[in-house]
Amino acid sequence: MNPKNSQFLFCIKCKGALNLEILNESSEVNEGFLYCKKCKLKFPIISKIPLILENISQFIEKIPSKPFVIEYGSSIGIISNTLGKKHEHVFGIDTSFSALLEAKKKSPKNCEYILSDTLQHPFGKKKFNLIIALNLFELIEPRLLLNTISSQIRNGLIFLSDPYDYDRGKNSVKHPLYEKQIREILTQKKFLITKSTKTPSNITWTLNINKRTNLVYKVDIISARKSS
Ligand SMILES: [Zn+2]
Repeated sequence: MNPKNSQFLFCIKCKGALNLEILNESSEVNEGFLYCKKCKLKFPIISKIPLILENISQFIEKIPSKPFVIEYGSSIGIISNTLGKKHEHVFGIDTSFSALLEAKKKSPKNCEYILSDTLQHPFGKKKFNLIIALNLFELIEPRLLLNTISSQIRNGLIFLSDPYDYDRGKNSVKHPLYEKQIREILTQKKFLITKSTKTPSNITWTLNINKRTNLVYKVDIISARKSS
C-alpha cells in the first residue's frame, strides 16, 4: 500500500479516519496497521495489502464483562490474555505445555492456564458465563464438544469459530459437523443464536503471532446465549 493512500480509507464501523502504523516499509507499506482512534479497531496491512474486513477480535471485544470465563484450546493465550483485561476470572485450557508457557508469560493475574483435556476438564459442575472455543471442531469430536459446552454454561454466552477444515488424515474427527448442523444442535440445546451469526459467515481471522507475523484465515463464527 502506498502510505499516501491511507487518507482515502475510513473505518468500516464508525467511518472515522484511519491512522497508519508502519511496521515494515520499502517504497510501499509492507506490513502495518490502519488504526481507528475513535473505536480502536485495527486493520492489518499484510504483504502490502490492507485487509479491511470485520475481524474476529472485533466480535470478542464487544462482549460485556462477565464473572467467569473459559477458553478451550487457549493455545498461546492471545484471546485469553486479552479477555483477562476485561473479565473477572479467565481460565485457559490447552493440551500443549509449550503453548501454555508462552501464554503464561504475558498473562494478567486473573488469567489461569491449565493443561487439560476439554472433554476431561477439571471444573466439575462449575458453570461459566462465557465460553470461547475457537477452531476446535477439527480437534475434538464436535458433538462431544458441544455437549461439554452446553453443560458448562449458565446465564451466559458462547462464542465459537471454525474453518471446518476436517481433512486431517488419521487424526481427523469421526463425525464432522458443519455450519448448519452446529446451529441446529445448539438450538435443540436451547441456545439462542445471536442474530448477526444466524447465517454462516466467512470472517477474517488475523492472528498476530508477533509484530511482523500474521496468520490470516476465514472462519464461520457462532455466538449464542443460554439464559438458564
Ligand atoms: Zn472506527
